[in-house]
Amino acid sequence: MTKPFEPLKLEGLDLEPTICARCGFCTFVCPAYLDTLWDSQSPRGKLFQLAKLIRSKKPIPADFAARIFNCTLCGACQEICQTDIPLLRFWQLVRQEIGNIEEWPEIVNYIDGALQETNNIMEMDQEDRMLWTDMVDDLVEGKTGIKAEVAYFAGCNISFKGTLAHMGENTVKIMTAAGVDFTILGEEEYCCGNPYFVAGGFEQGKELAKHNLKKMRDLGVKTVVFNCPGCHRSFAEEYPHLLGKEATAGLEFIPFSEFALRLLNEGKIKFTKNYPHEVAWHDPCELGRHQNYYNPAREILDAIPGLTLLEMKHTKNKARCCGGGGLLKGVNPMMSVRISGRRVEEATKVGAEFMASECPSCTMSINDGIEHIASEMKFKDLSQIVVEALGL
Ligand code: SF4
Ligand code: SF4
Repeated sequence: MTKPFEPLKLEGLDLEPTICARCGFCTFVCPAYLDTLWDSQSPRGKLFQLAKLIRSKKPIPADFAARIFNCTLCGACQEICQTDIPLLRFWQLVRQEIGNIEEWPEIVNYIDGALQETNNIMEMDQEDRMLWTDMVDDLVEGKTGIKAEVAYFAGCNISFKGTLAHMGENTVKIMTAAGVDFTILGEEEYCCGNPYFVAGGFEQGKELAKHNLKKMRDLGVKTVVFNCPGCHRSFAEEYPHLLGKEATAGLEFIPFSEFALRLLNEGKIKFTKNYPHEVAWHDPCELGRHQNYYNPAREILDAIPGLTLLEMKHTKNKARCCGGGGLLKGVNPMMSVRISGRRVEEATKVGAEFMASECPSCTMSINDGIEHIASEMKFKDLSQIVVEALGL
């Protein structure tokens, strides 16, 4: 089904397709292009099609809308673009326009409905937000909704998906061992809004942002710690963008790796145990390319006695996506898992004993990729490595 194409409204959005020099540098870094080898699926190809659509004012075809969502929002195209097109934001804004003409993919509509009804993407009862604390209930007892300078924000995936709960458990164990006084929001923790933001649903995510920030303010929080780069990016980048810089003034948002590194540098945690493992580090796109966090995780891994850090062929700002970003896992699970499998192959080539990262979405995708290619590779979240190396 096609609908009349509404002219792209946001300032500058109609300009980018004309700036593109058609050099094609972006094609060979784009996981969606590398999966299909269709130029129409590459960043260059999509810009070309968009330019034609804007000129002709033709209805937006459903297959073009699908192509825009066959994208992990990994940002590799932006990183390499020789004409400096801010492609990451651009793809989000095009998705926003697709939402405006009610052509969002089914999975995005489902998430939208779940968020409106339950304030989490799982459509679960908010009372179950604390499911992740099951194995550390003694450590979080009395921590919900108390005043503290440090808050831990678990996010929907860690809160509700049992296979990811260990990230929250690990962070709580580390905070406790380091003597950090912390609070958690419990059922007052709402989705960070990231699923909306990656779909271009900026207005829809506003109330979630306001709620989460108000709860942090009410509890006197100064620093919020995240295991999920998507949640972190929402607070650190999208909230001030949506609500103005004053909305987050005085609040610090830090990913797990930076938090753990701070504890290490302050002498609150110390690695003394030998941890003889060869680990390939995977940079999550939302921390690396999106926010320039490359070093904290590497500094932690370097500080662990016996651990050998291996860099894959594509690393840091050139790291290949895990396949799970940009809602691709929901929109096109087969493309997503093929991309994940390719990332696992890279780690195998450098002789890694296991892969590691710091992201619930990467954890799911890489584990799916391992299964998809029937690999012997293993995967660990950074918080797991820290807990094991500390002997907690
Ligand atoms: S963000 Fe990543 S997947 Fe999307 S078009 Fe750019 S390179 Fe391709
Ligand atoms: S790298 Fe930039 S200028 Fe070159 S084709 Fe891709 S989007 Fe266009």
